[in-house]
Amino acid sequence: MFARKLSKSQFMMGLQCVKRLWLYNYRRDLKPPVTPGQQHLFDEGRAIGELARDYFPGGTFVDADFRRLPQAVKLTAELVEGGTDVIFEGAFVFGNALARCDILRRNADGSWDLIEAKGSTSVKDEHLRDVAVQRYVLEGAGLRIKKTLLMHVDNTFVKNGPLDAQRFFKLEDITGQTAVLLAETARDLERFKEVLASADMPEISIGRHCSEPYDCEFRGYCWKGVPEHSIYDIPRLSWEKKNLLKAMGILNFRDVPDSFDLNEGQKLALKAEKTGETLLDREKLAAFLGKIKYPLYHIDFETIMPGIPLYDASRPYQQLPFQVSLHVQAGPGAEPAHFEYLAGGKGDPRPGLIRFLLEKIGPEGTLLAYNASFEMKRIGEMAVDFPERGPALSALLPRFEDLMQPFLERAYVHPACHGRFSLKKVLPALVPGMTYEGLAVGHGGEAQLAYYSILSGKLSPAEEEKLRNDLKVYCGQDTLAMVKILEHLSRLTP
Ligand code: SF4
Repeated sequence: MFARKLSKSQFMMGLQCVKRLWLYNYRRDLKPPVTPGQQHLFDEGRAIGELARDYFPGGTFVDADFRRLPQAVKLTAELVEGGTDVIFEGAFVFGNALARCDILRRNADGSWDLIEAKGSTSVKDEHLRDVAVQRYVLEGAGLRIKKTLLMHVDNTFVKNGPLDAQRFFKLEDITGQTAVLLAETARDLERFKEVLASADMPEISIGRHCSEPYDCEFRGYCWKGVPEHSIYDIPRLSWEKKNLLKAMGILNFRDVPDSFDLNEGQKLALKAEKTGETLLDREKLAAFLGKIKYPLYHIDFETIMPGIPLYDASRPYQQLPFQVSLHVQAGPGAEPAHFEYLAGGKGDPRPGLIRFLLEKIGPEGTLLAYNASFEMKRIGEMAVDFPERGPALSALLPRFEDLMQPFLERAYVHPACHGRFSLKKVLPALVPGMTYEGLAVGHGGEAQLAYYSILSGKLSPAEEEKLRNDLKVYCGQDTLAMVKILEHLSRLTP
């Protein structure tokens, strides 16, 4: 009975790309293992789903997971028949589709409200399709659905004491939007049935759909022919133009014709890519360097972004700094002094970090960050969340300059950056020998996971010590990299 039933998540895969649906069913061996970052997101989604149940106290959970679907369907039918008012994870089958519903609420007239809980902070188009297929299955299975509702995280929620699901979530009525999708849903289910009935993999080209609305797990397989420095890496190039180049048989960045419609920055990057020459706009670069005042504070934050707020005075998905590295130079070319703060992992990291910032940063001099809007936003948020420190923190903001600016404005274009301007690309191009490769913590995502591991309290003292050292090495490298990049840029404008 359950062989070949299309689950809701497979239905969503098919909507994104029928090749993804086919591969998932027949070539799951091509799917890479789940990364720690993905696992963290799954765990967080699960925690939000569990919190959503607190919104409806007294509900009954259908306790049979995906390995026991026939039992889940049977248990659900018993609950429906038996008069249960709120059902969590109810399972239903209709035609070739199977749906498990986050929450079902019985109305006084015997009809039901179908409620889908999402960790996002708004209703998205894909959510409508997700709920519509559930509605289609439930109605097909004989339930009368009165309303369909999307329950998402309220991004204005500020934690203040124990979490309250009633305040954390927002319910939006999407009954009308799902009603108009039912006929299309039926057609799509038929379409996917045919795809899965075929032994041939559908021919679908790579494109925007490989990462929207979700990252596809088969990218490693479908994208393997894409060269290292490709048209897909050209910053801010629209998908329409990428598709046009692909249709012209062009995948390598350097093969893009000079006549192709690119913006000025992209054209400069292409010129550097083709000629191997470094392009320099001395005037622009000198204007940037002229803004820097000493003592100079090279600054970098690492953050976590918990969906369910961990600390009072914080919101869902707020970026919370837990670590900062500072390299301070008294004058141009001076040997930098290094200072760092890494929260202990017990309680809110921000008060200690704020104390560190206000103690180490003197009243004068530039604060230099790479992609400075990130650090500035965090400081601005802390100024609001800790109003007693607000004036002192806000006073730091006008002192910021962004070391990414000369690269963004194409004042300096290095061929080894291949058109990109992230710190991870710029550093090895300008400072050979200095790279992030081989670091135990090598990017912001890994830093987040390392800190979450520390927060879990499950590490041995030795494991925690190692992770703390790895974090310090990584964050310290970011600000030292800025010192070296600035040195390099300064040498270009004698
Ligand atoms: S990588 Fe792209 S083309 Fe390949 S299956 Fe996934 S979405 Fe489809």
